[in-house]
Amino acid sequence: MAEPLLFEISSQGRRGYSLSDLDVPRKPLDEMIPASFLRREDAPLPEVSEMDVMRHFHRLSAKNHHVDKGFYPLGSCTMKYNPKINETLARLDGLASLHPFQPEEDIAGALQLMGELGDYLCEISGMAAVTLQPAAGAHGEMTGIKIMRAFHEWQGNPRKTIILPDSAHGTNPASATITGYDTVQIQSTEAGLVDIADLKAHLNEDVAGFMLTNPNTLGLFETQIEEIARLVHDAGALLYMDGANLNALMGLVQPGKIGFDILHFNLHKTFSTPHGGGGPGSGPVGVVSRLEQFLPSPVIVKRDGAYACDYDRPDSIGKIQSFYGNFGVMVRAYVYLRTLGGEGVKRVSKNAIINANYLMRRLEPYFDLPHTQHAMHEFVLSGDRQKELGVKTLDMAKRLLDYGFHAPTIYFPLIVHEALMIEPTETESKETLDAFAEAMIAIAREAETDPERLHEAPLTTPVGRLDEGLAARQLDVNYMKKA
Ligand SMILES: *Cc1c(COP(=O)(O)O)cnc(C)c1O
Repeated sequence: MAEPLLFEISSQGRRGYSLSDLDVPRKPLDEMIPASFLRREDAPLPEVSEMDVMRHFHRLSAKNHHVDKGFYPLGSCTMKYNPKINETLARLDGLASLHPFQPEEDIAGALQLMGELGDYLCEISGMAAVTLQPAAGAHGEMTGIKIMRAFHEWQGNPRKTIILPDSAHGTNPASATITGYDTVQIQSTEAGLVDIADLKAHLNEDVAGFMLTNPNTLGLFETQIEEIARLVHDAGALLYMDGANLNALMGLVQPGKIGFDILHFNLHKTFSTPHGGGGPGSGPVGVVSRLEQFLPSPVIVKRDGAYACDYDRPDSIGKIQSFYGNFGVMVRAYVYLRTLGGEGVKRVSKNAIINANYLMRRLEPYFDLPHTQHAMHEFVLSGDRQKELGVKTLDMAKRLLDYGFHAPTIYFPLIVHEALMIEPTETESKETLDAFAEAMIAIAREAETDPERLHEAPLTTPVGRLDEGLAARQLDVNYMKKA
């Protein structure tokens, strides 16, 4: 079952290419490159044929679970299907081969693409302006909080704290902390929403902002958002929206119009770029007009009918990423939006919501559902009932792999015991949702009849239950040639 490393199947002299000999004169290498920059010995790379490489990666891709292979309901991560047209167009030579140092007048098309993408994001979010620079959601959060700080400093006092609900994603407190703020956690109500009384009790002139995810990480729409915005603004603070769940709102709600001041997008989630393996992402940040002046420089603006970079931004927080950001992800998001159109975008949200609610109601008889109101694009079950039978949520998640499904997000949000956070996304059919529901129901039965099997799962995957603690403590990802 073990797949050897390419290093292990390397055979001296084997090549992955066959090119005819150069028929033009070639200068010696050290005449072209200063000798001090040249390698003293060859890099120890594997010597393998093209077919070896292709088969190796093909076999690896089949061992792993991925969204092109099967359903991947990983809550909060939005593992939707990524249309292949995005990939085709992102690889167009005129886009993929652009050099970041190319002068601006050479890249009018790329600037137009970025400018229009920014316009679409403004339209979807109801914000006045965006930056496309941040490279991920967490990076967008940091950028947003830096903008918050710049705003308060400009008013004379940076303030000291950021308030977060106890359902917040871990990146939220991390972003606040890295930007120099202390964090204060407030409670959620029984119904899973912001506890207004607790929020009021913590708002004061030291508070720079309140960071909220909407719909929140329980998949619930924060219905009191207008009151929350009023309270936060009355305290002189700003309201930040973690927009990772924007796929529930697109075309239905504009966060910039219901009181949010700053929002980050996760292009790789909501707007379809393959993610999850640590590849490039993009976390644009949108702001209301009174914060526009603080956006990272340069900002792409429209001048005389064309898009251009504006570097003349004296109040800007400065640059937060090299060049323009992760352009390839922007191309994918742009293609995604252009192929869907305005009505299509709205349909995405509606289907995401209906899929989640369908699945939630199918599973409700078999699992504890702590928050029973209608969900948005995801919902959170509790494994408490199965825990009483000696089966943990982790066991059920591992068992799902045997049924051919990726597990939901587990043990998050922290406020639900034995949480299973399920996000089916809009791209899945009713047949797939039903098949997943049947697998979950079968696992709930196994918890009653055969809990031992669940403790041992997964039983059919290339590797069984891993010691995740050990893997984290003894991180060994370097190939060392055995002597
Ligand atoms: C994914 C996610 C983030 C972080 O985004 P990255 O792009 O992974 O950095 C923040 N908040 C929520 C709710 C998320 O789901």
